[in-house]
Amino acid sequence: MKRVQHFAGGKPWPTDGRSGDLYDPATGQVSGSVDFASASDVDAVVRIAADAFATWRDASLARRTQVMFAFRELVNARREQLAAVITDEHGKVLSDAAGEVQRGLEVIEYACGIPAAQRGGFSENVSTGVDSYAIRQPLGVVAVISPFNFPAMVPLWFVPIAVAAGNTVVLKPSEKDPSAATLLAAWFAEAGLPDGVFNVVHGDKEAVDALLDHPVVQAVSFVGSTPVAKYVYERGTAAGKRVQALGGAKNHMVVLPDADLDLAADAAVSAGFGSAGERCMAISVVVAVEPVADTLVEKIASRMAGIRTGDGRRSCDMGPLVTAVHRDKVAGYVAAGVQAGAVAVVDGRDVTPDGDPAGFWLGPTLFDRVTPEMSVYTDEIFGPVLSVVRVRTYEEAVALVNACRYGNGTAIFTNDGGAARRYQHEVEVGMIGVNVPIPVPMAYYSFGGWKASLFGDTHAHGAEGVHFYTRAKVVTSRWLDPSHGGVNLGFPTQS
Ligand code: NAD
Repeated sequence: MKRVQHFAGGKPWPTDGRSGDLYDPATGQVSGSVDFASASDVDAVVRIAADAFATWRDASLARRTQVMFAFRELVNARREQLAAVITDEHGKVLSDAAGEVQRGLEVIEYACGIPAAQRGGFSENVSTGVDSYAIRQPLGVVAVISPFNFPAMVPLWFVPIAVAAGNTVVLKPSEKDPSAATLLAAWFAEAGLPDGVFNVVHGDKEAVDALLDHPVVQAVSFVGSTPVAKYVYERGTAAGKRVQALGGAKNHMVVLPDADLDLAADAAVSAGFGSAGERCMAISVVVAVEPVADTLVEKIASRMAGIRTGDGRRSCDMGPLVTAVHRDKVAGYVAAGVQAGAVAVVDGRDVTPDGDPAGFWLGPTLFDRVTPEMSVYTDEIFGPVLSVVRVRTYEEAVALVNACRYGNGTAIFTNDGGAARRYQHEVEVGMIGVNVPIPVPMAYYSFGGWKASLFGDTHAHGAEGVHFYTRAKVVTSRWLDPSHGGVNLGFPTQS
C-alpha cells in the first residue's frame, strides 16, 4: 500500500497525525493512504516557504528560466508516468490523463517566457531629465488549493507562473488524488528548484483553513466547487489576502437550426461524457433551437451507444466516477430527473462496465425535454449526465444561458458567423466556443468564468496569472544635474 506524504524543503515530509484513504476508482479498493496536515504542520511548511523566499525572490530571471526549462523537459519526458498516476487515483482513461498533462505542460512553457511576461515599462523624460518605469515584484509565499478533477493540470495552471515570478508556493491538492502533485514537486526539485520554493501539504478543510488564516501567506489561488470557492474567497480576503477562487459550472451548448448536426452531436457526446463529465468545462446542457431537437437527440443517442465505460487502463472511452459517494450522488440526480418527468433516452444506471464490478461505475445518461426547474438542470451534477432543453428561438436560448447562476464556459454551434458574433457579445459567460465545445483557453490567454464560477477579479494563467502573482511599483527617477536643483513646494507636474 502506498503512503503519500507532504513534500517540503525539497524532500518528502511525513507526519503522523490524521490520514485519509486513497481508492482505485476502477476497482473500488483502497490503494493507500495520504497524510493530512494539521494547522501546525501547515505553519511549519509555510515557514519553510518563507525562508526560501528570502533568496528565491533575488534569483535572476536567467536562473528562474533555466529551472523552468529543466522542469518542462522532465515533465515532458515522463508524461506517461504522470498520466498513469492520475488514472490510478482519479479513474479517467489514460488518453484523457495524457491530455491534462499536455495542457499543464503548456503553462510550464508559458512560464519559461517569464522574462518577457514580467517585463515592466519605461518612459524616458516624463519631465525634463526625469524617467519613469514600472516593475513587478513577487508577493512572497502563495497558496494553491486544487480540486480532484485535474490533479496535475490545475496545479500547473498556477505553480509554474507563481514560481517563475519569484514567489514560493504551498500547494494543497485534493485529498482524493494527491500523488500527481507530490510527483511534480519531486521533479521540480530534480530540475534544480531550490529547497522550499515549491511545497505540497496534503489534507482537508483543516489544512485549507490554516493556509487561509496564515499571516505569512500573501495570496490564494483556489479551484473547486462554488460553495467552497465562495468560502475561500470570503475567509481569505477577510484575512487580507489576494484571492482568486474558481468555482463550479453548468455549461450550455446552443445548437442553432443551421448547425452541422453531426458535428454538434459529436461535440455534445465528447464534451458531455469525456472524463465522465467530471470537468468544469464539460457540456451538461444542450439547448436545441427548434426544429433541430428530434434529429439532434437521435444523433447523440446513436453515438452514445458506442461509448465503452470501463477501467481507464484498458482501451475504454469513459472511466468510473471518483468515489462511491459521488457515483451515488450522480445516480441520485438521474433518478430525480426521471421522477421530475425528463425523458431518459439513455439511462446510465443500466451500464455494464468493462472493469471490476466493485468500481464506481455509472454509464452516460441522456435526458430529453428537460425544463429549467428540474434539479438535473439547476444543479452542477459533475457526472456523465447530459440534458437537452428545447427552445423555439435564439433569443430564448440566450435568455436561458444568461439566467444561469454559473458562467464558466459555453458553446454555440452554427454556420452563421453573424449569429456566433452576436452570441459572443450577448452571453454572460467567461469562455466561449464557436463550433468548439470545450473552449479552454491556451496558456497565454487566461482561464476563468463569470458569476458564481469565479470569485475575485483575476483569471488563471496568461497575463492575468502573472499579474496575480506580482505587485507593481512605479519608479520616478532623476539623476543629479546641478542645473535642476532648487526647492519647489508645488505638486510635481511635467515641465
Ligand atoms: P471541492 O470544492 O470539494 O474541493 C476543492 C478543494 O477544496 C480540495 O482541495 C478540498 O480538499 C478543499 N475543500 C473541500 N471542502 C472544503 C471545505 N469545506 N473547506 C475548505 N476546503 C475544502 O471540489 P472537488 O470536488 O475537488 O472538485 C470539483 C469541483 O471543482 C466542481 O464544482 C468543478 O466545477 C470545480 N472546478 C472548477 C474549475 C474552474 O476552473 N472553474 C476547474 C476544475 C474544477
